[in-house]
Amino acid sequence: MYFCTFVVRFKNDSKMSPVKKVGFYTLGCKLNFSETSTIARAFEQGGFVRAVRGERADIYVINSCSVTEHADKKCRNIVRRLIKENPGAVVVVTGCYAQLKPQELAAIEGVDLVVGNNDKGTIFERVAALGAKRGATVHTCEAGELTGFFAAFSTGDRTRSFLKVQDGCDYHCSYCTIPLARGASRNLPVADLVREAEAIAAKGQREIVLTGINVGDFGRTTGESFVDLLRALDAVGGIDRYRISSIEPNLLTDEVIAFTAGSDKFQPHFHVPLQSGCDRILALMRRRYNTARFAERIGAVRAQIPGVFFGIDVIVGFPGETDEDFEVTCRFLEEIRPAFLHVFPYSVRPNTPAAEMDGKVAPDVAAHRVQRLGELSSRLYRSFCAAQQGREAKVLWESTRRGGDMFGFTENYIKVRTPFDRERINTITRVRLGALDADGVAQATILSE
Ligand code: SF4
Repeated sequence: MYFCTFVVRFKNDSKMSPVKKVGFYTLGCKLNFSETSTIARAFEQGGFVRAVRGERADIYVINSCSVTEHADKKCRNIVRRLIKENPGAVVVVTGCYAQLKPQELAAIEGVDLVVGNNDKGTIFERVAALGAKRGATVHTCEAGELTGFFAAFSTGDRTRSFLKVQDGCDYHCSYCTIPLARGASRNLPVADLVREAEAIAAKGQREIVLTGINVGDFGRTTGESFVDLLRALDAVGGIDRYRISSIEPNLLTDEVIAFTAGSDKFQPHFHVPLQSGCDRILALMRRRYNTARFAERIGAVRAQIPGVFFGIDVIVGFPGETDEDFEVTCRFLEEIRPAFLHVFPYSVRPNTPAAEMDGKVAPDVAAHRVQRLGELSSRLYRSFCAAQQGREAKVLWESTRRGGDMFGFTENYIKVRTPFDRERINTITRVRLGALDADGVAQATILSE
């Protein structure tokens, strides 16, 4: 597909120069990560070498996020730094920030291309077509026109791949700007995704994380269901493990739970966005459940999948969240006892209903709440791992080497370490779980290869 002879005319140089290296920066979610990896493969197929972090490149592609104001700012900082350090390089910004505020990015002197989410799959060709010019070219569309599906999966890590199975969201939670940046919920047909999973297996990767904006909503555009997808992927040879990156609690159906409980490949690990443990705030957020329903779904999973790991997202400092509302959230989390919390301070997003709501929470109050939940998360994780200590588990070993050790994850997502052995990379072994160290990593004793 992408095999043209690649020559770019540098913006400050009328000479045609052969381009060799391309550097990538990814902000935000695993969906962006899978998309960056796919954009990178297009460049590699076009004859480029991917620059490692810190190495000079001829072209930089920054895949941006806009989930918070902080994410926007981080993107601008990276873009400005790259332009300053590499004045001759071509700079391309894509992703959700590029989709939502293209002009803000185009106004940064030195940016060459701003590409919205619909056109991510054409970045290689657009860079190839760049002429010698100053100023940025913008390729974006209206939210209603975000209908394309850029098929993507990540490669590079030998053990795990992030496979994009779904894009967009129809939910319109009051704080969220993602439906404006990503469009309506849509997906590829199951058969196409099976072929992608087979391609991942052929690269030797043994674990796939199903990734999307609202993955449980899979099937909107093909009339299939999420369970249809799980069932078909389960039959793909060469893939030993699947994880579901995140699923809305109302879409964690009995059918999904029963299927994952009965599968050897779908791991006992769920990431579920709660956002608040206070029903009044959940209603203001326009979430599609209350705490009773959430707790009931967690209980339904636990009844069928013992030892299941729950990672839970929480937003603190939503407009109107009082100290008492926050305490209600803390008590709810203590009751349902997830293994881990992903905590985010609320960030005002333009063009969302929450941006107009009264009762803004002071940043220092929100920061204190983040800290409280961070401490709770550490406690919950240690308690979850303590309950698993002494048990047997299976670990898929990764290539990272640190201090003479290698690392991997159990089925239920406990990070473990053992002395490094190159032969063990990308293998699955049975281990006995030991205690957590100061870094929150469990010592693993190998039982069998
Ligand atoms: S479910 Fe809500 S929070 Fe998640 S992407 Fe959709 S609108 Fe945003």
